[in-house]
Amino acid sequence: MRRKGNAPIGLIIGLIFLVIFGVLVYLYNSSLFEREAPQIALDKEIEWNLKEPIHMQVTDNTGLRFVRATLSDGEKSVVLESKEMKQPQTNVDINLSFPKTGFGANKKAFELSIEATDASRWNFFAGNSVTVKSILKVDTKRPEVSVISNSYKIMKGGAASVIFRAQDEAMKSLYVETNFGKKFYPTPFHKDGYYIVLVAWPTNVTTFSASVVAKDRAGNVTRAQIPYFLQDRKYKTSTIPLQDSFLDGKIADLIGEMAPERSSLSRLEKFKFVNETMRQSNEAAILKVTSVVPTARISEFAMKPFYPLRNGKVVASFGDHRFYEYEKQPVSESHHLGLDLASNAQAPMQTSNDGVVAFARENGIYGNNIILDHGLGVYSLYGHCSSYMIKEGDALKAGDSIAKTGTTGLALGDHLHFGMYVQGIDVRPEEWMDSVWLKESIFSVIDSAKKTIDR
Ligand SMILES: [Zn+2]
Repeated sequence: MRRKGNAPIGLIIGLIFLVIFGVLVYLYNSSLFEREAPQIALDKEIEWNLKEPIHMQVTDNTGLRFVRATLSDGEKSVVLESKEMKQPQTNVDINLSFPKTGFGANKKAFELSIEATDASRWNFFAGNSVTVKSILKVDTKRPEVSVISNSYKIMKGGAASVIFRAQDEAMKSLYVETNFGKKFYPTPFHKDGYYIVLVAWPTNVTTFSASVVAKDRAGNVTRAQIPYFLQDRKYKTSTIPLQDSFLDGKIADLIGEMAPERSSLSRLEKFKFVNETMRQSNEAAILKVTSVVPTARISEFAMKPFYPLRNGKVVASFGDHRFYEYEKQPVSESHHLGLDLASNAQAPMQTSNDGVVAFARENGIYGNNIILDHGLGVYSLYGHCSSYMIKEGDALKAGDSIAKTGTTGLALGDHLHFGMYVQGIDVRPEEWMDSVWLKESIFSVIDSAKKTIDR
């Protein structure tokens, strides 16, 4: 009898435990009792110029019930924000402003503490809490920038230099910004806090202005305009009728060699492909190579005038704007980004300055193309070479032979296409071939800056 009566009671107790266990498992897994703490996105260190409120977001899957932000200087604490939500919110945005009272004006370093609690029933209905702390530094001082010396003038299509001083305890970025949006990056110069940079005025930009821009980590910005005298210059425009002999000759050959998949295009489409699509990708390759600026400090920048081809006669100028016509219709255009020099066929070329071979490859319309890095973001370029005497990575000395002239790429007669680049911008090669320009625009700027810096 006992055994018979015991069996159902044991079963009932067993069932009760099972139900309790089931309920616990359910609660444990239900969102009501979730155990995930709220998320607070906050940098470990914040630099603040007090101009804009500090914005942050606190999130939680089940919803937030409470958020508080407290600022402390080690002695005093001020609550910047305290929010209690009647309805739990999954997202709470907080914008913190610096308190008008509570801290001494000389206090610059604080601890920012953000606490948040969610609406979960976990922790005996108290919810999940989290506290995130951050070091907050107040910095309302703008970087100090002063121009020490600069080239007196810049010519359209040409280059110029500037040496400036820039100082800030928390400098984030430093560059020269132009009216056409290009940023030129400086190289540290001579002593701590001084910089040198070469800038360029592209031929296709009407006017030129440039400012040194210094930004610190707290968001303080200083701009100092560089006082250049602007010298305008007209560049030649010409209209070139395209001959079938040229289209069926050089253009068809280039397509066959470099873009055989385009062989079915019409003769005019082939020309447009070479003059536009191919040219663009070749110039993109040059831009990439010539945009690298050294970051190691320099004290000197010596350079001789370039004279790449002995007795080379100028056969086409820098900056020529060429319009092409076919059967009297305008079809395409181009800008000539270098100086064409010709002497004898396969004449040897040399570098007039030390440099590192940054590029020595076949490059579409430029044919066999050499680019030398002379430091300070200055590069010289040699196109249409018939053969190389150097390879990428070679360190060259002034006077070293680099290649022989030729007709590779988009060249009709044997010649050298000689280009000069400043931080990716093609500039007037004539300036870099001129000892007076070099002295006035670069060397005397360096000499005068050093006198000021060493004083
Ligand atoms: Zn050329």
